[in-house]
Amino acid sequence: MHRHTTFEVGGPAELYVRPRNVSDVQTIIRAAVDTGAPVFTLGGGSNILVSDRGVRGVVMDMRDFSDTRREGTRFTAGAGLAISDAAERAAADGLGGLHFLYAMPGSVGGAVWMNARCYGSSIVDVLEEVSVVSETGELEAYVPKDEDFGYKRSPFQGRKAVILDASFRLTPADPAEIRAEMDGYYADREGKGHFAAPSAGSVFKNNRAFGSPTGALVDTLGLRGTQVGGARLSDRHANIIINTGGATATDILRLIELIERRVREELGLELEREVLLVGDWKADHAVTG
Ligand SMILES: Cc1cc2nc3c(=O)[nH]c(=O)nc-3n(C[C@H](O)[C@H](O)[C@H](O)COP(=O)(O)OP(=O)(O)OC[C@H]3O[C@@H](n4cnc5c(N)ncnc54)[C@H](O)[C@@H]3O)c2cc1C
Repeated sequence: MHRHTTFEVGGPAELYVRPRNVSDVQTIIRAAVDTGAPVFTLGGGSNILVSDRGVRGVVMDMRDFSDTRREGTRFTAGAGLAISDAAERAAADGLGGLHFLYAMPGSVGGAVWMNARCYGSSIVDVLEEVSVVSETGELEAYVPKDEDFGYKRSPFQGRKAVILDASFRLTPADPAEIRAEMDGYYADREGKGHFAAPSAGSVFKNNRAFGSPTGALVDTLGLRGTQVGGARLSDRHANIIINTGGATATDILRLIELIERRVREELGLELEREVLLVGDWKADHAVTG
């Protein structure tokens, strides 16, 4: 899995599948129901930490769901398309509204699942409809309800449904103007070191009740540059862990736990992880305590 995650760590998947169409997804889900095999749906692998021991059961890579289509101001993109490419295609077609997600790693499906957020907007702000294959293999059209979404929260997090595509309500705009804004987002991310080393972006969520963003809180403890094996808390941002090369997933988890412990003991706060632990972690956990 290290080839499929932006942390560039993770052991093997027991079974790795790449469905080409909806009926493939339904077949996989129904077979999984029949056999009891767990299924993990993989997008861009940019918000997950996969165990060094790998993933039991099926990893379903959605990359072949990458089509886009436009009907008026409604823009639909396949779940496996990079969200940045979706934003770029919509912009080139004179549609703005998704462009705040330009240059953010990950897929359309992953962005919907996470309710990805940046520059003051969340993807739910422009989300109109999501096609999914349900946990039992049925096709469903889901229409977002505000109460189902929150900060980095979507209803898909409580389900095992597979997102096939998402439709967005966009706004006509001048392609050159959107392009200029997108270039600004790219430059901002580059300046923050987002593309400088393998990472999964922010490790912890922000919590308004804490009064400061998590990076600023961790900074008060002087933890930037702390290293466990090949995992290092970024020198540029105290909420980003980077793989300096040769990190194991266990190194990264141990660094996450170290930060959590220090914040708990010295600031009395309980951080909430944004990065998701995927795969077979139990034995590693016993080692890290
Ligand atoms: C450098 C960097 C910067 C980042 N900046 C931001 C940022 O500004 N804002 C932000 O919100 N996030 C940010 N992230 C985190 C990450 O990019 C987002 O959370 C992204 O939306 C994850 O999408 P993904 O496709 O990579 O999902 P994955 O990591 O592949 O999966 C995440 C979850 O989504 C589920 N999932 C993915 N696709 C599907 C599907 N088709 N159907 C059902 N479930 C699915 C997975 O099962 C998993 O539970 C950043 C990451 C990096 C590396």
